[in-house]
Amino acid sequence: RMSALAVELTAPNGRKYTQPTGLFINNEWVKSSSGAKITSINPTDESEIASVYAATPEDVDAAVAAARTALKDPSWRDLSPTERGNMMIKLSDLIGRDAEILATIETWDNGKTYADSLSIDVAEVQGTLKYYGGYADKIHGQTIDVGADKFAYTIKEPIGVCGQIIPWNFPLAMAAWKLGPALACGNTIVMKAAEQTPLSILYMANLIKEAGFPPGVINILNGYGREAGAAIATHLGIDKVAFTGSTATGKEIMKMASINMKNITLETGGKSPLIVFDDAELDQAVKWAHVGIMSNQGQICTATSRILVQDGIYDQFLDAFKAQVQEVSVVGDPFAETTFQGPQVTKSQYDRVLGFVKTGKEEGATLVSGGEAFTQGPTSGKGFFITPTIFSGVKPSMKIYREEVFGPFVVIASFKDEDEALQMANDTTYGLGSAVFTQNLTRAHRVAKRIEAGMVWINSSNDSDYRVPFGGVKQSGIGRELGEAGLAAYSQTKAVHVNLGCRL
Ligand code: NAD
Repeated sequence: RMSALAVELTAPNGRKYTQPTGLFINNEWVKSSSGAKITSINPTDESEIASVYAATPEDVDAAVAAARTALKDPSWRDLSPTERGNMMIKLSDLIGRDAEILATIETWDNGKTYADSLSIDVAEVQGTLKYYGGYADKIHGQTIDVGADKFAYTIKEPIGVCGQIIPWNFPLAMAAWKLGPALACGNTIVMKAAEQTPLSILYMANLIKEAGFPPGVINILNGYGREAGAAIATHLGIDKVAFTGSTATGKEIMKMASINMKNITLETGGKSPLIVFDDAELDQAVKWAHVGIMSNQGQICTATSRILVQDGIYDQFLDAFKAQVQEVSVVGDPFAETTFQGPQVTKSQYDRVLGFVKTGKEEGATLVSGGEAFTQGPTSGKGFFITPTIFSGVKPSMKIYREEVFGPFVVIASFKDEDEALQMANDTTYGLGSAVFTQNLTRAHRVAKRIEAGMVWINSSNDSDYRVPFGGVKQSGIGRELGEAGLAAYSQTKAVHVNLGCRL
């Protein structure tokens, strides 16, 4: 099963496994046409993990050709939806079988804690694939009564060949969010992993073959955004592009996708507010606010990175939040059980976060905690570790209030009443997540209705669920992933009109 395009590795936790290094096209491992490779770096100690082939536009052509052939091949096109769903559930089970290997790779390549990789990321992949596998034979059209002379019905069809471009913050989970609904609806796929974190997804490719998916149904490439990513977004043989990543790149993809009017789904950036009213259960607000920004090294698109606190409890909240961060956000080796926060994913993300610390100080905000390189890590001075950072006294005019940082970096500001809270929360070009803490039932729902965001958490933060739609408004994206709504992004409706006797 394993070709020569693989290397035997031993991870920092001692686990040995075989790491594929090729491009996965037509269920086979191939080299890139140029022979170019990208080296994955361990963010904990900056050592090299493995080099994997980087796709060129020619390689994207080959993957698209495979996906187009597979789309029409009876082995996929004529597979019953139930069998298609069973194949997805088989893949979910294989991911469960290899959960510890996948979690190991995820932690090694990305820097997130092993506990999270196993219990959040890999569990999410298993759940998402099983959930959408269950949907495969429950996707159907309607019959429409238009009178005695005519009968009309609709057929749900796959969109076709789907290009899927994913980011590095949740490599496996982002792959599953996109594979699940696309496969359930019968599409074929050309996926590009993020160049920073390809390793876990390449390992999963072998499980895709083992689960029995026909050649060409799922093709997985590693490669740079401007090269392989752009080749996907502009490809005339691709019918849809789904993307998760920065708002700037999302806009580029929209432009490129217009070349053949591709169907698009975009999940982009955010600067999600978390509002704490003075009647909130303070202890819960503090704990969720911490989870909402400091989990996954703050590298979450829905991270509640702007905390807005009502005047009367501002000082009390700030003291309790600072204490919570200092107690719980233990920075260190992501494989250690005691660690809450591992390194940032890359040097450039690390530099970006520290750059925002400098900006915050220059803008006159108060650095309450953190804001420094963390050098007492497991590898003494090496690795992209940052101490969890809190700025208070932040004004809406400041850059650190307005721009997405994408790190363990939170700004805290105060408001006087509900109107001002909503005005401040909505004063952003983004609209992804949001959270509100209050014990007042009517206020909770009133705020949920008025807030400009795709998702609202009442008395929690960032507890997303694959059974519930996920996505943004404004410049946080287009379309929805997850839940039943996620299926709409991967099927189209054909209308059939049947004449029952109307003669001209
Ligand atoms: P990015 O948006 O540039 O990259 C995301 C994916 O898009 C990667 O697979 C990348 O290869 C691809 N890509 C990049 N340029 C492309 C292009 N021109 N055409 C097609 N594909 C392209 O993000 P990044 O540079 O890795 O990170 C920068 C910032 O993006 C972060 O600091 C953060 O603010 C944001 N980000 C957001 C998310 C999210 O979940 N919404 C995830 C990662 C990064």
